[in-house]
Amino acid sequence: MIVTDSIAVVRQWRRERPLMTCGFVPTMGYLHDGHLALVRRARAENETVAASIYINPTQFAPAEDLSRYPRSLERDLELLAAAGTDLVFTPSDVLMYPSGFQTYVTVEHLSQGLEGAARPLHFRGVATIVTKLFHIVQPTQAYFGQKDFQQTAVVRQLIQDLHLDIAFIVCPTVREADGLAMSSRNSYLKPWQRTAATVLYRALSYGMALLLAGERDANRLRLAMRDLIEAEPAGRLDYVSVADPVTLQELAQVDEQAVLSTAVYFGRTRLIDNLLWPLL
Ligand code: AMP
Repeated sequence: MIVTDSIAVVRQWRRERPLMTCGFVPTMGYLHDGHLALVRRARAENETVAASIYINPTQFAPAEDLSRYPRSLERDLELLAAAGTDLVFTPSDVLMYPSGFQTYVTVEHLSQGLEGAARPLHFRGVATIVTKLFHIVQPTQAYFGQKDFQQTAVVRQLIQDLHLDIAFIVCPTVREADGLAMSSRNSYLKPWQRTAATVLYRALSYGMALLLAGERDANRLRLAMRDLIEAEPAGRLDYVSVADPVTLQELAQVDEQAVLSTAVYFGRTRLIDNLLWPLL
């Protein structure tokens, strides 16, 4: 496995494999089974596999957890090697954002609302770094997790709008045994918060159960999930949403598809999760 912080080395590696399919998994490191599921899928479906580890400062607001974001580069590299990664790109901040940097990618409507409401410049940062990484790595397929549902909508849109020749593959959310979606940020949770954090999945599952029982009123669904989350004293609700999975607009009524999503704070740690209706 090649590990490099050089754009030139990545470009050379890619130039030497012009006809090979290349699956790409961008990450911020501190890897868990959710990340590794993306790498394994990329490995199964491509002739070469590239990953990146880069904690992208432009997707963090000044008050967010950039400086305390967990890191474990050595372990990450071992896990990526074991999962069959061929190349890992680990760029530095000065390489990605040299002084004078001033070009950003904005996916306008999909970046607003939900995560974008709490984190106004977050998706501008995501869209910018993902576009840059795509240009450097030149993948034929890109693998993202459903866990970050709005992110998948934003990246799918930018691939389409910028005519990028990349197949976009969304992989299911990998969960702990009790339903909590795996996340690097789970490591911030105190034991009692970790126990309480299952409330996201419990609320979303309750929403799905109501849908299964025939409930179609999106407001009643949101209220039912909200009540369940607000009954958990260790958590502080940010939002619950029942939205159109393509436009991310809030629904009044669930006719066909919907994405149920929520964000909840446990202390300073903000967790998100979602489920898609209908279940496949
Ligand atoms: P991150 O390191 O948080 O930027 O995540 C890198 C990629 O892994 C993104 O496409 C995430 O959506 C995906 N990912 C994170 N957690 C999970 C999970 N629990 N299951 C599946 N994919 C995930």
